[in-house]
Amino acid sequence: MLNFRKRPSCIPAPDGSCNCCKKVALVGNPNVGKSVLFNALTGAYVTVSNYPGTSVEVARGTVLVNGIQCEVIDTPGMYSILPITEEERVAREILLHESPDVVIHVLDARNLERMLAMTLQLIEAGLPVILVVNIMDEAERMGLTLDLPLLQEKLGVPVIGASAAKKKGLPELREAIISYDHKRHAVFGYSKRLEADIFEIMALLSGSYTLSKKALALLLLQRDDEVVALVREKEGDGYPSIEEKVREKMFARRDSFHLELSMERKTVVKGLIDKVFHAPEQRKPVFGERLSRWAVQPLTGIPLLLIALYYGLYKFVGVFGAGTLVDFLEGTLFEGYFSPWITGLVTSIIPWEIIRELFIGEYGIITLGLRYAVGIILPIVTTFFLFFSVLEDSGYFPRLALLVDRLFKKIGLTGRAVIPMVLGFGCDTMATMVTRTLETVRERIIATVLLALAIPCSAQLGVILALLSKFPGALAVWSVCMVLIFLLVGLLASRVVPGESPMFYMELPPMRLPQLSNVLTKTYSRMQWYLLEILPLFILASFLLWLGKITNFFQTLIGWMKPVMALIGLPQETAIAFIFGFFRRDYGAAGLYDLQTQGILDARQLTVAAVTLTLFVPCIAQFLVMQRERGTKVSVAIALFVSILAFSCGYVLNEFLLITGIL
Ligand code: GDP
Repeated sequence: MLNFRKRPSCIPAPDGSCNCCKKVALVGNPNVGKSVLFNALTGAYVTVSNYPGTSVEVARGTVLVNGIQCEVIDTPGMYSILPITEEERVAREILLHESPDVVIHVLDARNLERMLAMTLQLIEAGLPVILVVNIMDEAERMGLTLDLPLLQEKLGVPVIGASAAKKKGLPELREAIISYDHKRHAVFGYSKRLEADIFEIMALLSGSYTLSKKALALLLLQRDDEVVALVREKEGDGYPSIEEKVREKMFARRDSFHLELSMERKTVVKGLIDKVFHAPEQRKPVFGERLSRWAVQPLTGIPLLLIALYYGLYKFVGVFGAGTLVDFLEGTLFEGYFSPWITGLVTSIIPWEIIRELFIGEYGIITLGLRYAVGIILPIVTTFFLFFSVLEDSGYFPRLALLVDRLFKKIGLTGRAVIPMVLGFGCDTMATMVTRTLETVRERIIATVLLALAIPCSAQLGVILALLSKFPGALAVWSVCMVLIFLLVGLLASRVVPGESPMFYMELPPMRLPQLSNVLTKTYSRMQWYLLEILPLFILASFLLWLGKITNFFQTLIGWMKPVMALIGLPQETAIAFIFGFFRRDYGAAGLYDLQTQGILDARQLTVAAVTLTLFVPCIAQFLVMQRERGTKVSVAIALFVSILAFSCGYVLNEFLLITGIL
């Protein structure tokens, strides 16, 4: 467990606080500006690392305020003090075990009413809360008025209005951090019946806890596993009577406690914002609000999605990225200028043919690895991540999540899975990592299978769109196959994979015009991750292929794959693309691109190769991430299932196309 080390010269007060250093935790829903505020507070002194025992990243930084050193922690987004996802669990863990001196709850001024429920929970838990009402600039633009001094009076904790992106409110926040006085805060009352139940449970708690006993009693009533374990440990022999009391109360309320509590909290919040919050009456919905409504209703939402896919994926990533940009980078720059130059250079300085091969041969590190990575993959992935960041920054994804939630429920997922699924079209490896944001293990396994199977990564997609667009029939067959397999396997997985179905709840941040700086920063950090991830693998793959070639192992492998290729109606050269695909999906796609430019495949073969290669084994990188996230047994089972299914589908499709003669 991490514990903030006080400075050696510190003489902490009996309650552990000290006057020369403080620990400050930023908490709040996702997308409220915590990271922007964190960066504005801490500047350059930041470290990002996985929270111990988890794969969730937590950023920490330090800042000196009036001579007081503050360690600032940017916690993962949380919706409530009762955690559901791993991120929320980590955020609460930080609150519970790192005992921050100040907890800054950041919320979005435009969604004050919805988000105040968590402020209530934090204050009720006895945490030292400062409330930062952020994004005031947008709220003012929308004509909302907020009486923050009145809210401060009602809550009994400091309330600061801020526009973190414009660095407004920071001096006030710094001042509030150093002059924080934990003693005052308001007490909120629930209905008589609930208060009586809480009181009975509180009376049985005798241990000492970081959270208030009232918050603990409520978490016990909500069957929070970690809190149950904590109370069991602290109370020892006294625990059974607490357990019995909680059971008795839960029995009396049946299943409705969660709902009841949230309704009670809503009532308290309503009282709090009375006279604090004013929205202009009969305000004409701004364009963003109308767009938001269109995006979630199937009748308008589906056409809107298709338009986004057509222009974003097909036109921008497929035609512009995989067509125009690849032609220029790979065709003109690489083949035209760079390749001849580097070949001349390497030939003049390396006398040994076999070593020259390693760099500039058929599978050379430069002529294949670097060419694929920079000439083919980079432009496609960059255009995809740009498109993804634009959608992300506009606030479209939560709407898409609502739109597809019903369909996704049928395949064992919820709307929440939209982000990893769409991200999978960029890089399945990155997306597999993101499945950890899903609520249940079952949902994570199903999403991992679908990513491994039916979601082509952007390089694959770009190449396939660019190649198949010359044969519209082939593109239609490929698309239908992918959608059908995605749905069928999802339906099957939702029946086979054990576990409970998750609930779905998602905040809808307002829609807005994406900001260029955000889009560029997000794209840049994804590209950085991607290049660091793929370049070493591409070089390793080139090296292994070179080794395979000089030892003749490669030819043997192609020989082994010949019957499989023949079975699905493909020439044996296609085996190369499959072998490439083992290393990375995009590498395989680039291989397919090469084969097509050599004119080896006709429309039917191209379609069968594209379908099989899209479904084919998750690449090494994705497999490694799968293994880390889901364990060896599950990942091996997924990889086997996916490979067998890929070739079976290839076989069936080839036979179908031969018999019907469609292509
Ligand atoms: P987090 O998920 O809470 O860490 O949120 P981020 O810090 O990533 O911010 C989410 C989005 O809100 C980003 O696009 C920010 O640029 C935007 N944002 C943050 N603070 C402000 C603000 O004060 N005003 C406006 N207009 N946008 C903001």
